[in-house]
Amino acid sequence: MSSLKHFEAVAGALALPGSAVIDGELRPAIAGATFDNISPRNGTLLNRVAAGDERDIDAAVRAARKAFDDGRWRRLHYREKKRILFRLAELMERDIEALAVLESLDVGKPISDALGGDIPNAIRTLRYYAEALDKVYGEVGPGTSDRFSFAVHEPLGVIGAIVPWNFPLHMAMWKVAPALAMGNSVVLKPAEQSPLTALKLGELALEAGVPAGVLNVVPGLGSAAGKALALHMDVDMIAFTGSGAVGRLLMQYSGQSNLKRVSLELGGKSPQIVFSDCPDLEAAAAHAAWGVFYNQGEVCTAASRLLVEEAIADKFLDKLLGVARGIVAGDPLEPKTNFGAMVTAEQMQTALRYIETATREGGDLRLGGKRTRVDTGGFYVEPTVFDGLTPEATLAREEVFGPVLGVLRFKDRDDAIRVANDTVYGLAAGLWTSDINLAHRAAREIKAGLVWINGWDSCDITMPFGGFKQSGFGRDRSLHALHKYADLKSVSITLR
Ligand code: NDP
Repeated sequence: MSSLKHFEAVAGALALPGSAVIDGELRPAIAGATFDNISPRNGTLLNRVAAGDERDIDAAVRAARKAFDDGRWRRLHYREKKRILFRLAELMERDIEALAVLESLDVGKPISDALGGDIPNAIRTLRYYAEALDKVYGEVGPGTSDRFSFAVHEPLGVIGAIVPWNFPLHMAMWKVAPALAMGNSVVLKPAEQSPLTALKLGELALEAGVPAGVLNVVPGLGSAAGKALALHMDVDMIAFTGSGAVGRLLMQYSGQSNLKRVSLELGGKSPQIVFSDCPDLEAAAAHAAWGVFYNQGEVCTAASRLLVEEAIADKFLDKLLGVARGIVAGDPLEPKTNFGAMVTAEQMQTALRYIETATREGGDLRLGGKRTRVDTGGFYVEPTVFDGLTPEATLAREEVFGPVLGVLRFKDRDDAIRVANDTVYGLAAGLWTSDINLAHRAAREIKAGLVWINGWDSCDITMPFGGFKQSGFGRDRSLHALHKYADLKSVSITLR
């Protein structure tokens, strides 16, 4: 049985990656700059990482373009591409413990989540797209007796992937795997808070035989490396997950440069709606609690608004609080921990500010509300629950991206759907009911890209993932994601 000691020993023996991966080489930043990579586990310096800027991004984009144009990956036989991507998946499996420890150290997530969730999910994603790459078919048009027409999916070229810190490797893989599977080259810019597994992925890709220049990883600040990538004239698409504020900038950068495509996954304020005919209150309470507290609440689909029907609200809330009290908060490297540290001091302060605001606005604090484990130097906040919110409350409207749940009680079922939709976001929603008609109707009425009925987030790679409204556009996961990284070309042959 693995223990804290074991994972500390693994962490101690790891060489932490800090160099960019550009054109098949590990490189420092051209300017020689680095940034400090801090562990949220205890606030200490993990390592110094190359701080890429415009010049590093330009070198990576040039390498990616050259690789794309000379066809070293794009023109490779599909069997060979598949073999290499499967080999990469094997190498990730070989190094799964190291990858999980890197992720846990970097962002403070429980090692059991990293080892049982993040890294296996990233590997599954890679295998899914490796398996799918030779199953992408074009179309034959109706044509005429003297014209044969068909449409083919052509890779876009150079993809810039800008990814967040909450599921660093998993989110990176949602973009890198389908982009590579379609024959593109990629420049990946990990978040400054979480560069380690992306850099390791770049190294493993080279070991697996992904040709030089096809997958480049450039760490650096968003305002320097991210911006340079999004403004670059030779990048064909930016695939992004992160905040709405940066999403808006990316669309501006696209307009200011080469009108590159942009796909945005921007988070939400997802409702979990529990009707009084909920078929299983215990299961619903567990899903409602974990729907918001999983990964310390740093989840774009976090079920941060609980809408519960008045008739069962007290009973349901007691059950939910019972589950929440059983959460084992602690050292991320301790295998028993299922609730770790928040990613940065700033993110922790953001959560604490929302707690303060909810208290000031008259929310009824039922659980948590404080920073904990202060003596560790890490960034820990208790699972927190506020009851008695109105739909106008700040906590009912704004994304916290932390472990703070707001409870809203409803009497009128139609009103519940109205309140659920009363948000600028539209990423995910949950519904708990035994009434199949209500379930179907509500699922169709709710403006969200993902609706889960009598369950919460099965993380199913076969189904599209993405938002409505200000939660963004474009889909990750499923075969739809492959098409996102391709252009449709119509070819007509005049027959003589
Ligand atoms: P950001 O949106 O700032 O970061 C996401 C990615 O964008 C990072 O790689 C970041 O780089 C990069 N970036 C930042 N500025 C620019 C820019 N000007 N041009 C190009 N790329 C840029 O998220 P934060 O980390 O600041 O988190 C803030 C809030 O965003 C959270 O509280 C949460 O609400 C939301 N968020 C949503 C996520 C989701 O899954 N939808 C994930 C993460 C955050 P770098 O980090 O190096 O600056």
